[in-house]
Amino acid sequence: MNRSIRIAALGAFAAGLAFPAIAQSVKVTPLGGFDGEFCALDRALVFEDPNGTRLLYDPGFTVLGADDPRLGKIDAMLITHMHGDHVGSGHAKAMNAGACEKPDTSVSDVPMTNAVAIAIAKKAKIVTGSDMPAFFAAKLRTNGGAPANSLNARFGSTITVGGVRITTVTAMHSNGVDPDLIGGDLGKAMKEAGIWGDVGLATGYVLRFSNGLVAYLSGDTGITADQELVVRNHYNAKLAVINIGGYLSSGPVEAAYIINDLVKPASVIASHANEAATSGGKVRPGSKTEAFIKATKVPVHIPFSGKTMEFDGNGKCTAGC
Ligand SMILES: [Zn+2]
Repeated sequence: MNRSIRIAALGAFAAGLAFPAIAQSVKVTPLGGFDGEFCALDRALVFEDPNGTRLLYDPGFTVLGADDPRLGKIDAMLITHMHGDHVGSGHAKAMNAGACEKPDTSVSDVPMTNAVAIAIAKKAKIVTGSDMPAFFAAKLRTNGGAPANSLNARFGSTITVGGVRITTVTAMHSNGVDPDLIGGDLGKAMKEAGIWGDVGLATGYVLRFSNGLVAYLSGDTGITADQELVVRNHYNAKLAVINIGGYLSSGPVEAAYIINDLVKPASVIASHANEAATSGGKVRPGSKTEAFIKATKVPVHIPFSGKTMEFDGNGKCTAGC
């Protein structure tokens, strides 16, 4: 090895030692409906692995369709269940449309869904558990996408997309398919009968990124024993994203118990508040979000739309929180 190559090699080695945290963080960017705020229908988060793989979690109503410039490259979509506020039975026509407590959802996405439209445009995988993969494969096929892009990560199994390991975990919640998302004569007949389609159980996710970070995404759920037995004891999640809205799933008190006593992560991102949680970029006094922060023992990070947070392999926020 000649002298200049040796010096270059040493320099690269030293740089690697000096800046491992910068190179190795997972970036989490909320795609909410209102710039810099945390609003009632905000669910969507983009997770970016240090290796560049990007996953979109529950696009819901606030991602402005496949053309939303905030999306960039998307490698895989994670859909916890079929309800319209997660799969996206519609979406807002623009950023900051409507009010933070009652966002605009005026662009209809039935029967295709916002999630499937994004997946087709981005040529992204859709990774779901339970019996949802067959439903998404059919949606992809009938809308000109590739059904093989719908992948199954059913309870207990793990698949890898772009170096990120993905599995699904229990979420105690319903998961009926709105007849409007089925469409046609069948959808019409089901709507008249008041029957929703069956695609199995709702789920949460556990993700393991290439920097070692394990993240638990709760989906809509109440308190379950699996949050301790599976999410903490087996997967050892260090970052949690937990739904706190208290409307048809855990509220702030239940969510705080899940974090403090069952999952025990290093930090938590509040989600799915079903309220105008912030105003002017500050948590509103008397909000459910404030109650959750007060009741929780680990750092609570607020998903301000458009503001990227970075997490190290131990679940500690290193930037943007
Ligand atoms: Zn929901």
